[in-house]
Amino acid sequence: MPCFSQIFLDSGVYKFHCTQTNGMYSLCNVRGCMKDSNILCDYIVGKNQTCDKALCKKHAVEFKRGFHHCLDHHKMWLAEQKSNWRRKKH
Ligand SMILES: [Zn+2]
Ligand SMILES: [Zn+2]
Repeated sequence: MPCFSQIFLDSGVYKFHCTQTNGMYSLCNVRGCMKDSNILCDYIVGKNQTCDKALCKKHAVEFKRGFHHCLDHHKMWLAEQKSNWRRKKH
């Protein structure tokens, strides 16, 4: 996602921010982390819906090339993979 917006921070410096499709500035969604994010969580939460949590590089887990999970969803995803695997394994 291209970064084209700038905002001024309290300290007087301005920063470039990546924008999401909704036009909101996107910072990493992890509490306490104020890093710019250019990754969205791809965990499927419903019909044609993904979590879309904004994540910085550090807080995104790439589970497939080009696909990412937030940390919470990655844990859930791993648990699902395990149970799927058990089910398949007769
Ligand atoms: Zn982060
Ligand atoms: Zn997520």
